[in-house]
Amino acid sequence: MSYWEKDIETATRANLERFQLERLQTTLKFAKQSQYYNRLFNKEGLTPESFKSIKDISKIPFTTKDDLRENFPYGFLAVDKKDVIRLHSSSGTTGNPTVIFHNKHDLDSWANLIARSMYTTGVRETDVFQNICGYGLFTGGLGFQYGAERLGVLTIPAGAGNSRRQIKLMQDYDTTVIHTIPSYVPHLVDVFREMNLDPRIATHLRILLIGAEPHTEETRLRIQEMMGVKAFNSYGLTEMNGPGVAFECEAQQGMHVWEDCFYVEIINPETLEPIVDGEIGELVLTTLDRQANPVLRYRTQDLTRIIPGNCPCSRTHRRIDRIKGRTDDMFILRGCNIFPMQVEKILMKIPEVGNNYMILLETNNDVDEMIIEVEVKDSLLLDNYSRLEKLTRHIIAEVRNEVLVTPKIKLVETNTLPKSEGKAIRVKDFRNQY
Ligand code: ADP
Ligand code: ZN
Repeated sequence: MSYWEKDIETATRANLERFQLERLQTTLKFAKQSQYYNRLFNKEGLTPESFKSIKDISKIPFTTKDDLRENFPYGFLAVDKKDVIRLHSSSGTTGNPTVIFHNKHDLDSWANLIARSMYTTGVRETDVFQNICGYGLFTGGLGFQYGAERLGVLTIPAGAGNSRRQIKLMQDYDTTVIHTIPSYVPHLVDVFREMNLDPRIATHLRILLIGAEPHTEETRLRIQEMMGVKAFNSYGLTEMNGPGVAFECEAQQGMHVWEDCFYVEIINPETLEPIVDGEIGELVLTTLDRQANPVLRYRTQDLTRIIPGNCPCSRTHRRIDRIKGRTDDMFILRGCNIFPMQVEKILMKIPEVGNNYMILLETNNDVDEMIIEVEVKDSLLLDNYSRLEKLTRHIIAEVRNEVLVTPKIKLVETNTLPKSEGKAIRVKDFRNQY
């Protein structure tokens, strides 16, 4: 089955905006049936008729994660509970979970988006797809399962973990496409090596779909090199269904946001004013094709930018850049704002550096410090004082250059730093609280 929806994916801006306005009006009708938006629309004097162009969306106040949490569980539900058929909730990386409900229409629309996203990277119905992702409340499992089935691909619901079994499944069924979080790939590669296998030769893999957590272009290049296939970035969040919000195409030059289903804005997280294309700010998204649980102008807390210009693939839906971080994962050390991804970018460029690292923030003698534990690829380096010194000095200089704070570096053997269950945790903050 073809999931190249040409009319939608290459629509002119004017047609797309007209279509978005129609969908926004329908979305608002549903939203008004929820307790939360009903109250809000009454307070703000908003009716579906207040919207003459899609740009009028700016009349609606932003929705935040706190709004969703405070109205837990049913405050945003916009249809009769008897029509709801599934819920998902976020992994709660940064606090209490938020819950999203779906009716049949919503699940159908989501499956369609994932099928389209997979097709965009080159997945076809002749592929064998292994979904290495937790099934359950986490959206990456069932989300991809239904999407891949919609595309017509033989799908192995492998679930997360148990790498030897994953490799066996890949070999038994000649898996050609896998989906996983990027921080799992180095671990998987280690297990291939323990089994005396080279993933570039021992499998039929041709496409990797990686997403759900921040990673740098340098990490992607390493993943592609280790696995010998192209890796495509997948962006999504539970509040906007999960995966299938924005996806890289074969050009690998940013992720197309599916604008027929999500309205995209980038704002300055402090002033809340819109930011021009090309500049980094907070991504704000509105669901345009969801009935049970519409979410309007949702502040994702993810920092990115719209990539100006056209994509060589001819799709017209705008592209967002790799997520630079979340507004809440930035930390401030001695007055400097630092994102873990800035550190990762530096580390992953250095060939001697392995694939895992951890940033520790500590207070020592009343001074706040950043200690970066870094795995090295070749443990022998740790026994060679001059090489160890040289590498340490090199990392210190490069990191200081990027983040303006001098870190302490602790080089450690491969596979000694803790691996997270699920999404990688890159920063541990042990500083004294004043
Ligand atoms: P939680 O917020 O509890 O982790 P989700 O599982 O819904 O819940 O995670 C969504 C978040 O994951 C996004 O808001 C974003 O911060 C991150 N994320 C998802 N996909 C990507 C990606 N491709 N690159 C970077 N970050 C991503
Ligand atoms: Zn493209």
